Amino acid sequence: MNLKYYQKESECMPLEELRKLQGERLAKNFRHVYENVEYYRKRCEEAGVTPDDIKGLDDLDKIPFTCKDDLRATYPYGLFAVPMSKVVRIHASSGTTGKQIVVGYTKEDLDIWDDCTARQLVAIGCDENDIAQNAYGYGLFTGGFGVHGGATKLGIQVIPISSGNTQRQITFMQDLKSTILFCTPSYAAYLGETLKDMGLTPDDIHLKAGIFGAEPWTEEMRRDIEKSLGLKAYDIYGLTEVMGPGVAYECQEQAGMHVNEDHFIIETIDPKTGKRLPDGEKGELVFTAITKQAFPLMRFRTKDIGVLNRAPCACGRTFVRMSKPMGRTDDMLIIRGVNVFPSQIEGVLMQNGYPANYEIHVGRVNNTDTFEIKVEMTAEKFSDVVSEINKQEKQLESALLSVLQIKAKVTLVAPKSIARSEGKAKRVIDTRKLHD
Ligand code: ADP
Ligand code: ZN
Repeated sequence: MNLKYYQKESECMPLEELRKLQGERLAKNFRHVYENVEYYRKRCEEAGVTPDDIKGLDDLDKIPFTCKDDLRATYPYGLFAVPMSKVVRIHASSGTTGKQIVVGYTKEDLDIWDDCTARQLVAIGCDENDIAQNAYGYGLFTGGFGVHGGATKLGIQVIPISSGNTQRQITFMQDLKSTILFCTPSYAAYLGETLKDMGLTPDDIHLKAGIFGAEPWTEEMRRDIEKSLGLKAYDIYGLTEVMGPGVAYECQEQAGMHVNEDHFIIETIDPKTGKRLPDGEKGELVFTAITKQAFPLMRFRTKDIGVLNRAPCACGRTFVRMSKPMGRTDDMLIIRGVNVFPSQIEGVLMQNGYPANYEIHVGRVNNTDTFEIKVEMTAEKFSDVVSEINKQEKQLESALLSVLQIKAKVTLVAPKSIARSEGKAKRVIDTRKLHD
């Protein structure tokens, strides 16, 4: 195994030292926010907390949460903690849920962001001989610029192709010999499908690894992508409010994402009570930025649900690992009173040999929720015989019932009839209510 590190002294820091560093940085950055962000200072005054109360990690619980509504209430610059003249970059959330929010970075913030993504590239065995095809969207979305920075820092050649123009992506992979691919997992799956449609195989391209994130994806989907593109697929996690991609990254073990804990404190909380949960228990992920200057959020509630694992990792990094988020609390569908995550559905579909091309339709008729899943057939499974299709639908319905504990109607549709995504896939169509 390749045991290389980009910043070994941080990534492998003994736990005691790491906690001490986090505590010192927390105290300093809390003061910075308190002194420079009026909105948050008022929140702290209401909670009776001043910078003198925050001396180390043990004081974390005293700090009030920040949530998405606070970002909306202060749009656009109300949570910025430095003068605008120090801000060199703006990004905005992709707006998957609700209104746009805007974030900013100083030069030093960008430098740290680059370090965070460079750590993953080194962790998965990349160096200056690699060629990275960056098919994340460039622009206000953090994806494109986020991984671009880390790759450039390592001297990796970046092809800033951005998302879209799928056949050209494949042509570039062949002609420019890209060795690493960056994009959303749903776009990676689509690229794999397009490669095949073009009459090519993974042997015709040169990819060895891919870094895919920005949306939930299952282990089944990982295996599918690895096979169709002939690479090792790694997960990366991040969100605009906290920084962008690179808040947490997978190493070669592919067993959870190391959180860059020298820059971010992670907690899991019970989303109902706000109480901290012990490591190993599933809860809402909460991040505190302890080095960021322009837009440092204290105890930001992500609405993402995950689990933390402190067990030592074979790669030698001491940073805690977070599981793949299984979705956001606001992604969770409550159908006829039962909690359903789209990722559970995807798992069942893929275990039964279907591709990750599906749509979940939820509606309401006569005060009862309707729940239908449209699933694409693969060319192999495709059948014109109605009785055969019905049989396959029934099989899938019973497989879903045993996992979800609720009955869904399955409708199989023709191969390639569901729209492909070049960025984050939109899989849920819920007509009962629209998000705010
Ligand atoms: P928006 O909130 O508008 O979608 P972002 O691009 O900031 O904008 O999205 C961040 C969100 O994307 C995270 O809160 C999380 O829900 C999701 N996400 C990011 N990376 C991953 C990942 N590796 N696995 C699962 N979900 C992810
Ligand atoms: Zn590891």
